Amino acid sequence: YSGKTGNQLLGEHIQKLPVKDYKSVPVVCREETSVYDAICTMFLEDVGTLYVVQEGGLLVGVVSRKDLLKSSMGNQDLQTIPVGVIMSRMPNIVTCRAEDSLFDAATKLIRNQVDSLPVVREAESGTGMEVVGRITKTTITRAFVELGEGASNV
Ligand code: ADP
Repeated sequence: YSGKTGNQLLGEHIQKLPVKDYKSVPVVCREETSVYDAICTMFLEDVGTLYVVQEGGLLVGVVSRKDLLKSSMGNQDLQTIPVGVIMSRMPNIVTCRAEDSLFDAATKLIRNQVDSLPVVREAESGTGMEVVGRITKTTITRAFVELGEGASNV
């Protein structure tokens, strides 16, 4: 008997859940995409954040619901404003990697007060980060529910 408490075991279990088992598909747009089209994409794809990429899926920025709301206030012509001028930009984007733990990703979401993290890997060209997935607060909630369900499956 290891002598560990239930809490310690649960904590260890949680720290082992890998991002790669939980990440979902990233929804992306280009810097040239208009604010109008970005809003449409958010509705159609049912996401709260778009990742802005260049050729080859290289991450250049992130645009959130509130970024789009802010740029829409008092603005008549959303078709002419490119997402590139309102997005949060690299290198100030908080990211995670497929091999990170979901717990570390959740910690980053909380510490940085953001709703999602792009999952990235080193680009094949060697310069920049390629977007391969996303982790959101919903991802963490889903994992939490699964952990709870596990308790009744003994
Ligand atoms: P919202 O703005 O809709 O509440 P967030 O809380 O995720 O959504 O975003 C807050 C701000 O942080 C926005 O300006 C957004 O561009 C930026 N942001 C979102 N995700 C990240 C991230 N992973 N790294 C850095 N900045 C981010």
